[in-house]
Amino acid sequence: MNTRIVLTARFGLRVEDFMDCHVLTVECLHCGHKGHVSAATLRSMFKPYERIKLIEHKLRCSQCRRTGGSHWYVEEINAE
Ligand SMILES: [Zn+2]
Repeated sequence: MNTRIVLTARFGLRVEDFMDCHVLTVECLHCGHKGHVSAATLRSMFKPYERIKLIEHKLRCSQCRRTGGSHWYVEEINAE
């Protein structure tokens, strides 16, 4: 899967801004683990108007199970 970064952390970015080709990449600041959250998963977990900036603390690291410390950005999946 080829991806490229299309958006960096922005306060105003909302769940509804995600297209199906977008994934939210979340890097854990505690252990360095990188997780990918698909647009479909985001929509199933949060309301469309919720800001990513305000839900980032709810995202739990799948490796160290900690929350509250992450760096995130949006990548676009390249279909090629
Ligand atoms: Zn972690």
